[in-house]
Amino acid sequence: MRLLIVSNRLPVTAVEKEGEIEFRMSAGGLVSGLSAYLDSMKHSNRKAFNYVWVGWPGVDVPDAQKDKLRTKLFDEAQALPVFMSEKVMDNFYHGFCNSTIWPIFHYFPSYAVFRDEYWNDYRAVNEAFCEAVLEIVKEGDVVWVHDYHLMCLPGLLREKRPDLKIGFFLHIPFPSFEIFRLLPAPWRSGILKGLLGADLVGFHTNDYTQYFLHCVLRILGLEHNMGQMIADSRLVSADTFPMGIDFNRFFKAASDPEVQAEIRALKIAFVGQKVVLSVDRLDYSKGIINRLRGFENFLQANPAWHGKVVLVLVLVPSRVGVEQYQQMKRRIDEYVGFINGKYGRLDWTPISYQYKFLSFPTLAALYAISDLGLVTPLRDGMNLVAKEYVASRPDGTGVLVLSEMAGASRELGEALIVNPTTGGEIADALKMALEMPVEEQIKRNQAMQERLRHYDVVRWAEDFIGKLSEVRKEQDTLKARVMKPAVRDELAEKFRAAQRRILLLDYDGTLVPFSKRPEASLPGADLMSALKRLASDVKTDVVIISGRRRNALEKWFGELPIHLIAEHGVWIKKSKEDWRLIKPLRNDWKPQILPILKMSADRLPGAFVEEKEYSLVWHYRNADPELASVREKELIDDLVQFTANIDLQVVCGHKIVEVKNAGVSKGNAAIEFLGASSATSAHFVEKLADGLKSRLDHPAGGPAAYDFILAVGDDTTDEDLFKVLPNMAWSIRVGLANSRARFNLPGHHEVFGLLQKLIGEG
Ligand code: UDP
Repeated sequence: MRLLIVSNRLPVTAVEKEGEIEFRMSAGGLVSGLSAYLDSMKHSNRKAFNYVWVGWPGVDVPDAQKDKLRTKLFDEAQALPVFMSEKVMDNFYHGFCNSTIWPIFHYFPSYAVFRDEYWNDYRAVNEAFCEAVLEIVKEGDVVWVHDYHLMCLPGLLREKRPDLKIGFFLHIPFPSFEIFRLLPAPWRSGILKGLLGADLVGFHTNDYTQYFLHCVLRILGLEHNMGQMIADSRLVSADTFPMGIDFNRFFKAASDPEVQAEIRALKIAFVGQKVVLSVDRLDYSKGIINRLRGFENFLQANPAWHGKVVLVLVLVPSRVGVEQYQQMKRRIDEYVGFINGKYGRLDWTPISYQYKFLSFPTLAALYAISDLGLVTPLRDGMNLVAKEYVASRPDGTGVLVLSEMAGASRELGEALIVNPTTGGEIADALKMALEMPVEEQIKRNQAMQERLRHYDVVRWAEDFIGKLSEVRKEQDTLKARVMKPAVRDELAEKFRAAQRRILLLDYDGTLVPFSKRPEASLPGADLMSALKRLASDVKTDVVIISGRRRNALEKWFGELPIHLIAEHGVWIKKSKEDWRLIKPLRNDWKPQILPILKMSADRLPGAFVEEKEYSLVWHYRNADPELASVREKELIDDLVQFTANIDLQVVCGHKIVEVKNAGVSKGNAAIEFLGASSATSAHFVEKLADGLKSRLDHPAGGPAAYDFILAVGDDTTDEDLFKVLPNMAWSIRVGLANSRARFNLPGHHEVFGLLQKLIGEG
């Protein structure tokens, strides 16, 4: 397998030093986590694993030097650089990524900046990444795109290379719909469509996955089933993969001599004091001020702890030069100074404060000597520091105080979980943690360590890649059901060779697309002409078999020599004959049922009730899909109870619920035409037992031994039709749903193409 990892930053950052380019390891959880996975794959015995990392190298060099840097990056870091001019990078990175997406996705909408040029350059950079990937991608590669900088990339790649195996993972939260919708419409749908270009979209927590699915439903109108959707006739899956850490690296860190030396020095520095550790990048999402407030509240309420506890506050410089971050830094500096000034003594400083990036040995030593890990972001996609702290306590001691707003809190339930907003809960948790018996600390940490050891970063990445392969297999299974061109040719050949043919065609969703207003879905001239040509052949019976009312069908098709079935099988009209009921039906139940449907429609804006001659239909196509799903369940529940002792059936179709007489279905109506030719189907035998035999022996048009049967439909009501067909029939379900039909076709365009083929024009 060759893996193309695509992320904004490469694992190494190129820096210019005295005219020469040098590489430094890039900072951050994404790079260190994925590097651990790549190392493990390289050292495993898996043959033929290879990778290339595609990303921004950290500098822009003159064109003349690009090739040299490209070669150096490839040779030394298996990396392919995507170069960007400073201006584009500014609008893309500082602009759209960090001033629009970051605040919106972290629930700080008031910090968000909305500028068209940011969005345009975000698209432009995603396009540049797309070109870079296309330059090197080969068949069989796995493309794994990372994070919020590249959300349009999967869609762009898919457009150019529909065959690619693409995964996407988001390392920050995905916000709820109410927040996501703050993005202007083209941006938000552009982002969602971009993400749906992947085969698998991964998130840290189930909440983020659900919010994403919800946004896809509300904004693009795509429903999902257990996280799977059909987007552009392709199965896409969204799932949860909480990113792990390189557990053993932290668990065993204290045995490293360099770390041990750091530990010794720190123990001397903080002798006689309990150490509370706080490490974050400088960012408003990390809630540093709230944390300081919590610590101050704690000191205020617990004078007995003065002189016995120290908060080691490490801030890692981030987005240096951005005014908002500089202001935040000044506020933190002042607050730290205030607390130290107010509570400190000559022999004790409550907060030991550093503003710098820590190397691994220093960080590991701090984790090892700290009695408490204080991790209280206001919002954080995952937070790896929390996991690293727990993993760095091999003797099981230490207490983690963790914000419920961090994705990690979903896995680290044994931590002291706090709401960080006011600082009050932080203060209480600090006291509880400092006084927690050692046995309890060990019990809590061991449970968390087990989980972190088990689902470490390698397992996380393998889980994602494994699930990506599963999705591809499911796509293949669905694709295998899609009628291939050769089979379409075979069908057309059989059609031409046959002497008695019947085409049973559903209307909405099969011959025409759905529209918001049912009356707007008219048959076009091309379709009418194809149907006319088909039906004009004496050897061919064309039957439109629809849920529509008979007057609508007659208005559109009455002039053609075709047969009509209306109201899902209530009415039958053979060509040139009059309408007749399939069987004697009753209508006296309607006054009882209509108010139930109307009440339900009143409680669902956009829903309406349609009264047909022998059925009542509750439509919800134009309603809010989520409320509709709740109301639909309530309605079905009411109807089933109400109709228990009446000879009625409740049928769910495409965005409709229909109540009608029992025994009426598209299947039973089709039997009127198919007659004895359906004798091979199990359903037919059932129907014989139901006493329909006499009718079937003398079907509507006399004995009809069809040697070619084609049935096409798109929803559950058509499944009733598929199940009465004999084995020799061609049955096609429109859309990629599972079905009793033998084949699927993606949409009405393909159905039309097939009809064209039958008349020799396809
Ligand atoms: N880190 C580091 N040196 C530091 C501070 C943090 O190497 O001085 C690493 C830390 O080990 C962790 C990552 O940076 O792996 C921070 O990841 P986290 O998810 O906690 O926060 P992010 O910065 O991604 O929001």
